[in-house]
Amino acid sequence: MLRFRFLGYPVTIQPIFWLLSFLIGMSFAGNGEPARLIIAIACIMGSILVHEIGHGTLYRYFGAAPSITLHGMGGLCHGHGYQPGANWRGKQILISLAGPVFGLLLYLLAAFLLKTFPDLNPNLSFALRVLAWINLFWNLLNLLPVIPMDGGRIFEAILGHGDWQRKVLAGVGILVSLAACIYGFMNGQIFLAMIFGMMLMDNFKTIKI
Ligand SMILES: [Zn+2]
Repeated sequence: MLRFRFLGYPVTIQPIFWLLSFLIGMSFAGNGEPARLIIAIACIMGSILVHEIGHGTLYRYFGAAPSITLHGMGGLCHGHGYQPGANWRGKQILISLAGPVFGLLLYLLAAFLLKTFPDLNPNLSFALRVLAWINLFWNLLNLLPVIPMDGGRIFEAILGHGDWQRKVLAGVGILVSLAACIYGFMNGQIFLAMIFGMMLMDNFKTIKI
């Protein structure tokens, strides 16, 4: 388990995160390109960290002391001491949106640099391409209305708490994750199919309670 502080955030990287980033990194770098694999892993780690720092920035704004964990399904930002209070819905929407917003800004920056400087050093341009792709894909995916992703948290805050709201939330989560799971299998995206398969089961459990 790797632990360090980054911009004042306690960061923990679980060993399984390296497996996740190795597998995704291999799909970018291909075989026989160890330097590119290391660049891709660093870009994946940096991208997920930036996404979580987005959530952390808002947690800090609302008075909490956030910590960040990178794990086998991406990342998590925990707001220690966070007090949602009466306006929990507005705050939850802002905290959940901040991660994808930070990530999409990083995508725009990488895409802008690639377009503005077409003759960059090949490794630098490879890093920018990985950053652009990961940040666009990861952050748009996170906006899908499936608990526990950011889009699911936003949808939960819009609906509010209650029995029918819980069922609608889980029902939409089941439909969207089932569609994403089928899409993943049909297109050879096994990792995508697996993560949505797990969320599909979790949402099934929620709807039955
Ligand atoms: Zn997030």
